[in-house]
Amino acid sequence: MTTDELREALLFDRKNGYARITPAQRAEMETYCKGYMAFIDACKTEREATAWAVAEAEKRGFQPFVPGMDAKPGDKIYYNNRGKAIILAVIGQESLGKGVNICAAHVDSPRMDLKPNPLYEDSEIAYFKTHYYGGIKKYQWPTVALALHGVVYRKDGTVVTVTIGEDESDPILVVSDLLIHLSADQMKKPLAEGIVGEQLNVILGTEPLEGEGADMVKLHIMKLLNEKYGMIESDFLSAELTIVPAGKCREVGLDRSLLGAYGHDDRVCAYAELDALFAIENPAKTAVCILADKEEIGSVGISGMQSQAFEHFMQNLCDAQNVKLCDCFANSFCLSADVSNAFDPNFAETCDRRNNSMLNYGVSICKYTGSRGKGGASDASAEAMGHIRTTFENAGVIWQIATLGKVDQGGGGTVAAYMANRNIVTVDAGVPVLCMHAPMELVSKLDCYETMLACKAIYLA
Ligand code: MN
Ligand code: MN
Repeated sequence: MTTDELREALLFDRKNGYARITPAQRAEMETYCKGYMAFIDACKTEREATAWAVAEAEKRGFQPFVPGMDAKPGDKIYYNNRGKAIILAVIGQESLGKGVNICAAHVDSPRMDLKPNPLYEDSEIAYFKTHYYGGIKKYQWPTVALALHGVVYRKDGTVVTVTIGEDESDPILVVSDLLIHLSADQMKKPLAEGIVGEQLNVILGTEPLEGEGADMVKLHIMKLLNEKYGMIESDFLSAELTIVPAGKCREVGLDRSLLGAYGHDDRVCAYAELDALFAIENPAKTAVCILADKEEIGSVGISGMQSQAFEHFMQNLCDAQNVKLCDCFANSFCLSADVSNAFDPNFAETCDRRNNSMLNYGVSICKYTGSRGKGGASDASAEAMGHIRTTFENAGVIWQIATLGKVDQGGGGTVAAYMANRNIVTVDAGVPVLCMHAPMELVSKLDCYETMLACKAIYLA
């Protein structure tokens, strides 16, 4: 053998996806990404993503699953977990006891939630006080266009949906930063302290109502909210209102190869899962698509992946086929579909280049996440990695390897550990992202498309 032949036969050749994707796939990729852009514009919170999934699923014949219902091959069902998370399934030909193929993404993203008593006035400016949700670099959030999204459970028991800042005719909201001219002290602080949590106060208005009394700007804002949404100040206590970046997903770069938007993590994988699920009919094994909440704060709570809501749904499904849930789990496979960090040459020193995912190299498979010696990671086995690799290869999916930064640089987690705790073989894989958790995150169109193909391959495995 020549050395070239040896190299070809023996070495792991990493190639840019654009060298491998077919012209037909490129066209399909553009169509797919248009659909994704519309999805991410419409879905900036877990509630919006869940509502979108319900509406699109029902258009395609999915029905809400009620305990006692049949689960026959070809049936399409979903379970709406209190409007904040959703599980969808296409029932397979084989018994649920043989296991199911799961793709699990999350639809919550880092943001700034309103405090329970958020509205106040200081120096004749009205503000919302916020408490950030998930991991953010606080200095990134002042002086960017922000929007208010959420729901308010009013005193009379009715619920109203709030969205301000997305329509072109809407006002936007902003957090202020200090002018450079007076920043001598601020600029000497570490980045983590330049803007602190209690400074993430959102400007709401400055015009006082006519008349005498304290806090006339605040009263004006409350009056406007009352006129539009019928709410009173105490209703903030029974609300979920959140501040997210305003605006739509845009193509990025002169070649338009990237997409810039808030909340790719992890709605880019959520959309991949959904699009793939909607395309399959009569799979051999039951295909299960999970869009979870609360991943960004540890998968906790009733709508997070540690919740028994998943068991509740799967148990009822297994009951319909007289199958034991523990057998179903033991024979199942889960793709924990979550984003990875794309290699950024601006910050090359934070990563191990040989083991980091790259933009345009396809869906990135992550054997372990965690931090400080894999702490908290699921750490997939050789067999699990072999299964996913073979599945992707056989389906022609362009894939790559991911690790979350160099050793001891930091870390993170996904839902993988909580799925594996259920005795389900689980591997992480997803879309590489630049500037993850920033108000604008970047992903490559090619990687988005390949992740959809990866989800489809898992459903059909
Ligand atoms: Mn994520
Ligand atoms: Mn995240």
